[in-house]
Amino acid sequence: MSTIRFQALAELNDRQAVTVKSPAKISAIFGENVLSPFKLREYLTDYSFGKLEDCIIHGTRMDRDTADHIAAAMKEWAIQKGATHYTHWFQPLTGTTAEKHDSFFKPLGDGRALEKFDGSMLVQQEPDASSFPSGGIRNTFEARGYTIWDPSSPAFLVGNTLCIPTIFISYTGHALDFKMPLLKAGHVVDKAATEVCQYFDKDVTKVTVTLGWEQEYFLIDSALYNARPDIQMTGRALFGHRPAKGQQLEDHYFGSIPERVMEFMKDFEYESHLLGIPVTTRHNEVAPNQYELAPMFEELNLANDHNQLVMDVLEKTARKHNFRVLLHEKPYEGINGSGKHNNWSLSTNTGVNLLKPGKNPKANLQFLTFFINAVAAIHENADVLRASIASVGNDHRLGANEAPPAIMSTFLGDHMSAMLDEIEKNVKAGKMSPQEKTDLKLNIGKIPQVLLDNTDRNRTSPFAFTGNKFEFRAVGSSANCANAMITLNTIMANRLIQFKKDVDARIARGDDKDEAILKELQRLIRASRAIRFEGNGYSDEWVKEAARRGLSNFRDTPSALKSWKDKKVQKMFEDLNVLTPEEIHARYEIEVENYSRRREIEARLTSDLAQNHIIPTAISYQTLLVDNVRGLRDILPAAQAREASRTQTDLILSISTHLNGLKTALDRMNTERTKAMKMDAEKQAEAYCHKVKPLMDSIREHVDALEMMVDDEMWPLPKMRELLFTR
Ligand code: ADP
Ligand code: MG
Repeated sequence: MSTIRFQALAELNDRQAVTVKSPAKISAIFGENVLSPFKLREYLTDYSFGKLEDCIIHGTRMDRDTADHIAAAMKEWAIQKGATHYTHWFQPLTGTTAEKHDSFFKPLGDGRALEKFDGSMLVQQEPDASSFPSGGIRNTFEARGYTIWDPSSPAFLVGNTLCIPTIFISYTGHALDFKMPLLKAGHVVDKAATEVCQYFDKDVTKVTVTLGWEQEYFLIDSALYNARPDIQMTGRALFGHRPAKGQQLEDHYFGSIPERVMEFMKDFEYESHLLGIPVTTRHNEVAPNQYELAPMFEELNLANDHNQLVMDVLEKTARKHNFRVLLHEKPYEGINGSGKHNNWSLSTNTGVNLLKPGKNPKANLQFLTFFINAVAAIHENADVLRASIASVGNDHRLGANEAPPAIMSTFLGDHMSAMLDEIEKNVKAGKMSPQEKTDLKLNIGKIPQVLLDNTDRNRTSPFAFTGNKFEFRAVGSSANCANAMITLNTIMANRLIQFKKDVDARIARGDDKDEAILKELQRLIRASRAIRFEGNGYSDEWVKEAARRGLSNFRDTPSALKSWKDKKVQKMFEDLNVLTPEEIHARYEIEVENYSRRREIEARLTSDLAQNHIIPTAISYQTLLVDNVRGLRDILPAAQAREASRTQTDLILSISTHLNGLKTALDRMNTERTKAMKMDAEKQAEAYCHKVKPLMDSIREHVDALEMMVDDEMWPLPKMRELLFTR
């Protein structure tokens, strides 16, 4: 009897929902643990508060006195709420968040003590964080990285610790995190978009990026989790025969949420609301035990901090409820994976969503300008956008017939496609007559009406227009959104800067403004045709069609990441002051290495589990069968014994066949892995991808076949059916 699996299943029978209290009114507790600028104001003089606002809105430097005042205010608020420690909270390139807690408490040396926190402690810290990946930028012997306060994201309280959002840089000033380039990308798109807005509205002085993420995840009972070392260590099931019932019926989607899960969600939402994360929706996803949550969209940097926090809160809350959260992009082969849809738009200080059609032709021309430039930006830089979502987990998802393909394309919907076709056809090359212009403007003016009843959605597109924003659906569920958002906003800024130049050049040559804009839009529509695809992105025809169009299809992370080596890409990031070539190179190295490390762990676990769990179990069962056959021979005449043991003999032979196949693949995998270990980083990642991974797949086939043969009572690992359908 396999004890771990059955103990885990027995534990499940006794599980009760952990009931939690939920607030009568969410608004009453919302943001209670956040020190918002509004709350800070209570503690500050008007002068200091004004300085803080300048710093948040215009990015001005803060003087030492103001920093001291703000630090004092933060300390007062935090201590009132029971805080004893503070931490600089940052987002290193490992993809999670990091913190190092320091006490407010300072002994004075004469037996007395004080709670201290001043401007210098707020603004800059030097965490001993030498083991975070830095891709060679920060020599380990120097071991110097600094965290620097990001005043644009409010401090918050977790337990008794005041958490201060910070960027993380090397002593040479290079970014070692996601937040610093994200802030820079937001800044550069603000500048570029504001300039383009001047064509339409002189009152626009600031353009903010808005991000509304949707987070998918799986829940698994903690007992089952503990009985599956592969899920524990790699986040995904390396073995497991597909259950008879998978998601064919799709009955889980929008079905009722089980009570235990419901209590978990209530608890988790409560914690999120205390932290000011505006979580509003919850529902089941397509796969069994898969769920999704989404907040109201927010300004880019804050939204991203909130997503990082949510992943933490999810994990912590899940443990309280005897669940574990799986954020891996593909925990179960054959079952839908998880993504993190990034809904993205731009919004002006005058309250206009630039990707939402307006009420009149002028507003719509502005909308079309941003809309078409976004499409053109994707077309021009599809490869680096693909690189920005590449990860070992996402490789299992992209192009797996249930998630957007690895081919970048945009879906615009019938109406917007028709609108672009119309502009492409009807904008005349030379001077346009007043009548031609009026006709075109009238049509452009009709966009909002046609979009109102525009219900077409395409879930198979990686980058879909959804009426008032684009939805980047190919982002992986465990990713830091910043990775995709840094790239998307940089390529958009780059496009808008070019657009401004090109339109100004046309105006200088004698076109009037509207005509210049329309002609430039027409040119962009023509140039970016190849990136537009309205059909089924999951189909094989699309793969062929995309190849005909010359679109890239990077099926795996090592090849996708190579786009970061493109000199044109590096120059764009450098010119826009988002990332230097050194920083890009460092990131590239870290991601390549991360790919290999993750595959290495998977390969080792595959090997361990096969050797220590699967092979012995299969042999034990085979021995039972052999004993049985021998026993039959003892008591029956030879011919009769042969007949009576036919099934057993077949099974014995099949088990041997799979054991041999398994062992052969295992030995080859271990050889390939040993060879890979000696290679340089790039070659190593390729070896893991093209040599080791296929052998892991082949091992899995044998293991899954054995699972179907061996007595259920003896099978050591919880089965897929148990992982997916028990709650
Ligand atoms: P649906 O797309 O399902 O119809 P919504 O349009 O309300 O639903 O939005 C889905 C997601 O898009 C939500 O997470 C929401 O916060 C986000 N979203 C809506 N408007 C914007 C916007 N202007 N910018 C960024 N995200 C947005
Ligand atoms: Mg969505």
